[in-house]
Amino acid sequence: MLKGLVVNREAQMIGVYIPELNKILRGIPRKKIIKIKKIYAGDYVVGKVIDENHFSIEKIEERKNFLRRPPVANVDTVLIVSTIKFPDFDNFLIDNLLIVYEYLKTEPVLIFNKIDVLDNKFIKDLEKWEKIYTNAGYKVIKVSAITGDGIEKLKEYIKGNISVLAGSSGVGKSSILSKLLGVELEIGEISSKLKRGKHTTTGVKLFKFNQNSFIGDTPGFSNVNALYFMSKGEIKDYFREFKKYKCKFPDCTHTIEPECKVLEALKNGKISKERYYSYFRLVKN
Ligand code: GDP
Ligand code: ZN
Repeated sequence: MLKGLVVNREAQMIGVYIPELNKILRGIPRKKIIKIKKIYAGDYVVGKVIDENHFSIEKIEERKNFLRRPPVANVDTVLIVSTIKFPDFDNFLIDNLLIVYEYLKTEPVLIFNKIDVLDNKFIKDLEKWEKIYTNAGYKVIKVSAITGDGIEKLKEYIKGNISVLAGSSGVGKSSILSKLLGVELEIGEISSKLKRGKHTTTGVKLFKFNQNSFIGDTPGFSNVNALYFMSKGEIKDYFREFKKYKCKFPDCTHTIEPECKVLEALKNGKISKERYYSYFRLVKN
């Protein structure tokens, strides 16, 4: 028996990467045991090589998570891409994405792209936001998909992982993808795939780079509201910087309660007002 990873998933097509052979074989689910519909990109599978091109899938390993959009299992990291300028930074959207991807049991990494276009004023903004998110407990990385700045460091962050990109349109997701893969020629192909509408997605592909790292060719949410996934009461569990504060009331909403340690931290500047305002915007009536 050999282990494999589903890296290519279209209607009737399952591509399984077999590390031991360093080859992608066409996966054939063993009839009656596994339904073809139940196999997704990112699935770790176990099976047998049938011939030069085919692999019999005997078992799907238990998934640690599953993203519906795009349909990828076992996602380790979601690269939430943003920009300070072109387009303008939207911190409320970023906060929603951070909440949702943590809720979906992935580790989000916040990327600031297009650092090559920032003049001094915007560099100050970038530094401000970088500090806010680092202090809040997130991994933050600054890159330029054009100059390649920060891309090697980004590769280090996601080494050995299955990653997916997310973020607004125009922030540079497809540019980062092609920079990571180092295949300028394929950018057209990648771009059209990345830009495809949600109803026309025909398949998902995980590209392999840096030996054992994989990244999805289909982006996740460009916009999302955390309240679509959870109740207002759950939101506070996804503001990482709130967690170390123990308020007087265990069910404290951190809005009006006396002796609320989060409000105290906000007052003392330990919690950023920008982050708190996103929280408030989500939980207020
Ligand atoms: P996507 O919609 O998120 O996939 O964004 P694209 O990768 O298509 O990029 C949108 C535009 O921004 C394109 O014109 C890219 O050339 C440009 N772009 C992407 N990354 C950078 C960057 O780091 N610096 C600069 N100056 N432009 C970039
Ligand atoms: Zn509180």
